[in-house]
Amino acid sequence: MRLSRYFLPILKETPKEAEIVSHRLMLRAGMIRQQAAGIYSFLPLGKRVLDKVCDIVREEQNRSGAIELLMPTIQSADLWRESGRYEDYGKEMLRIEDRHGRDLLFGPTNEEMVTDIFRSSVRSYKDLPLNLYHLQWKFRDEVRPRFGVMRSREFLMKDAYSFDLDFESARASYDRMFVAYLRTFERCGLKAIPMRADTGPIGGDLSHEFIILAATGESEVFCHRDYLGLPVPGADVDFSDPTALRAIVDTWTTPYAATDEMHETAVWDALPEDERLAARGIEVGHIFHFGTKYSAPMNAVVTGPDGKDVPVHMGSYGIGPSRLLAAIIEASHDENGIIWPKSVAPFDVGLINMKPGDADCDRVCDELYAQLEAAGVEVLYDDQETRAGAKFATMDLIGLPLQLIVGPRGAKSGEAEIKDRATGERETLPIAAVLDRVL
Ligand code: ATP
Ligand code: MG
Ligand code: MG
Ligand code: MG
Repeated sequence: MRLSRYFLPILKETPKEAEIVSHRLMLRAGMIRQQAAGIYSFLPLGKRVLDKVCDIVREEQNRSGAIELLMPTIQSADLWRESGRYEDYGKEMLRIEDRHGRDLLFGPTNEEMVTDIFRSSVRSYKDLPLNLYHLQWKFRDEVRPRFGVMRSREFLMKDAYSFDLDFESARASYDRMFVAYLRTFERCGLKAIPMRADTGPIGGDLSHEFIILAATGESEVFCHRDYLGLPVPGADVDFSDPTALRAIVDTWTTPYAATDEMHETAVWDALPEDERLAARGIEVGHIFHFGTKYSAPMNAVVTGPDGKDVPVHMGSYGIGPSRLLAAIIEASHDENGIIWPKSVAPFDVGLINMKPGDADCDRVCDELYAQLEAAGVEVLYDDQETRAGAKFATMDLIGLPLQLIVGPRGAKSGEAEIKDRATGERETLPIAAVLDRVL
């Protein structure tokens, strides 16, 4: 992509309304634009990162055996009356009336709708286990939308729903999602810690929030330092082996970790001081086993091996990809801007032409651009006639992992400079060696 033909509305001034660094940087880097309180457009650069995050989420959901579908944003209130949540949900739900006077709502979550899909076509335990997920915009009329896409009213969610015959099998579904989540966050360059979370009125101990430690996080969290060094399972993890998955979940739930609602001071106080990590955290994912809470009132039953109908055991599993963008920036930036982990960077390389119009510079840049693109490297090519300082500042701000700098002298002598955004290290190398260095 040539910068001269791209849409990258960089802000020079630091926006006053933004209280936290990720919000400031997303606005300055031209990633998002607020359209109404807590409602954002994702501008091209933001959209590219959002897509990369969604690709990772999708790959790991698919790997674990979940199946993608797409449910609508608008739901019928009648379904929510069946589960009893229409009245209970309160003011966070955006209620809508259509021209015929029918009650609709903009979905804040999809348990009811997916249960309806399930009950309309699944009859036998032989079709289980089943896990259906989608990536869809949600709306929650948050009392205090803030921090940009970190807590917005309209936000993207990956929500998955598992259906099983009994608790044991539902537990295995839970473990699969747990492991998929560990991998998803690690691939986004984040250290997410699963913490025991409140299951509310449903009870049981099967709920975990995945938390990123960050000073700007809204939750107060308490965990053992061991979490910082625990290994995340590789891509070869066997999702068809429940025993292996349980062992991973056990490893990741044994050291102490809880959000403040679930915090047990007695257990905490018994830990040696230097093993404790009390911090602030950002909730990026939440998984939940809730059994027959929706299947029983909504009559989502299957015929079991004994010929009797039983309500299915369900769980739900959410990740907020739009919030993740902000969380990644909170975890990875410096005073000059964003530092994208390679896996989610909007482009792999920023190619800087220091003197557009100079025949050598243009030729070398055009060649490098074509060569890198042909090799599958995503390049943002700054071919604009701006000051050197402004070019460097923009590249640092938008945080691409590598910068490739071509000036008139180097172009003449066949050399380019490469800068690693994360370390700041610069290296001069022959143009012929650039491709190998980048790949
Ligand atoms: P929070 O405690 O931050 O309000 P939640 O517990 O209400 O979140 P869940 O219902 O567990 O959220 O939704 C699953 C995921 O959706 C969350 O872990 C988070 O990543 C994302 N999410 C929830 N609310 C928002 C929001 N207002 N803006 C952006 N992402 C959100
Ligand atoms: Mg909430
Ligand atoms: Mg929460
Ligand atoms: Mg939650």
